[in-house]
Amino acid sequence: MIPERLRWLVEPGSPPYQLGELFEKAGYRLYLVGGSVRDAFLGRPDEDLDFATDAPPDEIERIVRGWAEGVHTVGKAFGTIAARKAGRLYEITTFRREIYRDDSRKPVVTFSKRIEDDLARRDFTVNAVALRLPQIEVVDPYGGLADLAAGVLRTPIDPHESFSDDPLRMLRLFRFQATLGFRPDVEAVEAVKEMAGRLQIVSAERIRDEFSKLIVAEEVTAPLWGLVRTGLADQFIPELPALEMEQDPIHHHKDVLAHTIAVTAKTSPGNLRLRLAALLHDIGKPATREIGPDGVSFHHHEVVGARMARDRLRALRYPKSLVEEVSRLVFLHLRPHTLKMGWTDSAVRRYVRDAGDLLDDLNELVRCDVTTRNPKRAAAIQRRIDELERRIAELREKEELARMRPPIDGNQVMAYLGIRPGPMVGEIMDVLLEKRIEEGPYSEREAYETVRRWALERGLNDPGPPPPDAGDQPVTRDLG
Ligand code: ATP
Ligand code: MG
Repeated sequence: MIPERLRWLVEPGSPPYQLGELFEKAGYRLYLVGGSVRDAFLGRPDEDLDFATDAPPDEIERIVRGWAEGVHTVGKAFGTIAARKAGRLYEITTFRREIYRDDSRKPVVTFSKRIEDDLARRDFTVNAVALRLPQIEVVDPYGGLADLAAGVLRTPIDPHESFSDDPLRMLRLFRFQATLGFRPDVEAVEAVKEMAGRLQIVSAERIRDEFSKLIVAEEVTAPLWGLVRTGLADQFIPELPALEMEQDPIHHHKDVLAHTIAVTAKTSPGNLRLRLAALLHDIGKPATREIGPDGVSFHHHEVVGARMARDRLRALRYPKSLVEEVSRLVFLHLRPHTLKMGWTDSAVRRYVRDAGDLLDDLNELVRCDVTTRNPKRAAAIQRRIDELERRIAELREKEELARMRPPIDGNQVMAYLGIRPGPMVGEIMDVLLEKRIEEGPYSEREAYETVRRWALERGLNDPGPPPPDAGDQPVTRDLG
């Protein structure tokens, strides 16, 4: 009767069962709802469980106090009390009906006594199934279980009405396609085409949160095409559809959009920074495209693209650090190609230094940024990156690359030259660091000699030979 994968919910004594009993005794109904039910039926139990009840918020709070290990009431105005028990979060919300006014971003929320009202306002039928506890009674007014079995995303009510109530649902349609691997219903997709423009009333933060879940998912190819084909992408990331142009009017290569989606899908799921960088790595191409006698070129598209990526991610309210990192990945994504003539040690050091913490993501981006059908060309690029990674590993061992410091510090330079802190110290330290990057580790003596030459070139007093205690073996003072 009860599917095996739901059994833990009704095991007498399990926390969800206890909670159901507590509400029952108090004269209320408690239902597991939304993604929690969907995931329970799919056999992937969530960490956190969402419940709905006819009990008003004060009553919920009263019931869970004494049972829970911790109670949070921050969402109480919206009907939600959160309780912590045995490492899980239980969010319990009074049945709601939500009405969105045409001109407003904020829903008007009213409480309800009926589970059916609560389910009717939900986005998709597969998210609109309720499971009453402790007796496991399924409430499924919209055929959500059938759609779950078929893997279909369908709105419980007419999609136009649903998307008008909350336009974010249009984006959620493609988000769940990406995370669940389900197929959006044709009618829903048609409705998105008609109503995409309404996404404008949704805040950038809500769009960002859904888009982030979409872009890190396992299966992004179909959802990204869906966003573009329905016109929804135009509403919040217009640079993406703008990539759909002929890359080369003579050779008719894959267009930049198809390439971009393929590259994004190849990168590791779950890595938001890398996925965003993959999606945006070529967005500078349309603005830099030139057709000359030798075909098409996109000079400095990575520079333009880095700026465009920054602007777009800022507009979507991504955190500043992530914006800068993604922009930097876009900026650097061509570096290994421009250095294809063979890598000197100093070029490898510079690459590592410029990439910093982004090195692994950058290498993966460059590897994935190969969608040529020519197997020889593809293999050649992979070999180049293999070689680069091998060189980095080698150099790393030799010299703690990323934390390079010259063999003497600013205080030693000031004492030697008899000068006080100021821009001149910074200038000479730059020269010493530059030498460290170019040549690898060198000795203290060599450092002092470099400072001396520099001082003489500048017409400063001769500081004399290096101090007698200056070592003549190459050293690294690199940060460990
Ligand atoms: P995930 O496992 O990715 O969190 P989820 O289904 O739990 O998926 P949430 O965004 O956490 O998604 O929302 C929880 C539930 O609330 C949904 O299953 C759905 O029933 C309902 N819901 C959330 N956002 C909306 C919305 N914008 N419109 C209608 N219903 C929504
Ligand atoms: Mg959830």
